[in-house]
Amino acid sequence: MISISEALKIIERESFALSVETTDLENSVGRVLAETVKADMDLPPFNRSQMDGFAVKSNDTKTAPTRLKVIGESVAGKGFDRRMKTGEAVRIMTGARVPDGADAVQKVELTEENDGFVTITEPAKSGQHINLFASEIVNGTKIFGKGEIVTAQMIAAIASFGYAKIKVFRRPKIAVLSTGSEIVEISETPQKDQIRNSNSMMLKVFAESCGDAEILPHVADDVESLKAAIENEIETYDVLITTGGVSVGDYDFTKPVLRTLGAEIFFEKVSLKPGKPTVFAKRGKCLIFGLPGNPVSSAVTFFLFVRTAVLRMQSAKNPELKKGFAVVAEKIKAAKERDSVLPAFLTTNEKGEQVIESLRFNGSSNFIAFARANALVFVPQAKNLETGDVAEVMFLP
Ligand code: AMP
Ligand code: MG
Repeated sequence: MISISEALKIIERESFALSVETTDLENSVGRVLAETVKADMDLPPFNRSQMDGFAVKSNDTKTAPTRLKVIGESVAGKGFDRRMKTGEAVRIMTGARVPDGADAVQKVELTEENDGFVTITEPAKSGQHINLFASEIVNGTKIFGKGEIVTAQMIAAIASFGYAKIKVFRRPKIAVLSTGSEIVEISETPQKDQIRNSNSMMLKVFAESCGDAEILPHVADDVESLKAAIENEIETYDVLITTGGVSVGDYDFTKPVLRTLGAEIFFEKVSLKPGKPTVFAKRGKCLIFGLPGNPVSSAVTFFLFVRTAVLRMQSAKNPELKKGFAVVAEKIKAAKERDSVLPAFLTTNEKGEQVIESLRFNGSSNFIAFARANALVFVPQAKNLETGDVAEVMFLP
């Protein structure tokens, strides 16, 4: 039995790096950047008005109300090109260029315009309502680096500097293969002794957030069918995720089949609850993760191992789930011989602390409770977490 961190090291050692490709910016969320994103211009590109109103020389307005001559207009997309002199004002719109000579904008509500003149009713402070040239960013500044995962919030910043297309690392092609003679498709009505295949859909959706995933046709607990299914696919995919059939039951065929197919098995027992029988193997270049069939076990092991591998293959800087700390709301029992990584619900309490509630964990099959999880909590082997303890958590994406 190996520790979670040893398992992660082995996976890192056996993963390979994927090549670079170009994608449309609109499809880049979740992708890992393969180039540096830099500002290709100063922003704002000119002194920009934040208000509709009048560009003035602040000195002229010290003794407001002051009457100034309106000599023109500056609108977004077409500024006013002459230099303003003392006693003059330029009508200006939000987003427009502040004319040379002006050092303030007075908002329209504090002005009265008639007969080619404007009365500024209150003094304008120098610099007021102006975003200065290059105050947001200077041309050439690095904004995002290689290895960062693109989020929706980053899109505007990237778009502003002309990246209609962007270089990202290729995503691995991932296949999801469920096994088990008791499993029927989700559109079917389970008969006696049967349950629906929730794992394939769940894992496909998880995997789609970091790779390109497909569901393979389900296979029963039968050596020959399993062999055929794995053998057919192993060449086509970068990553194969199987579920079920990794325990020590009489019909758990995943490991023997992998061996027959010449796959090298690197580990098959992790000190982890849930998820102890997780298998990691490789044949050719294809990484194979044999996850346990219990939906919660397969979810937890996906997030710990598969997601990390998939993002690492894309050269992500931080491929593991983001870690943090939270205060334990109610005692969480440790397992005697393994570390636990349990689904949990994070909230904040009235003191402003981040608190963690373990989701009632009636064995690893409690995937109904898992539906509310927004984090995983780490419970060290044989060390219960008591109310008020600070625990390490991992945020689910
Ligand atoms: P196994 O890992 O094959 O021993 O399965 C452990 C438990 O997970 C059993 O109760 C299975 O019925 C259940 N299970 C296995 N595969 C799936 C699946 N694809 N969807 C939902 N539950 C599953
Ligand atoms: Mg089974």
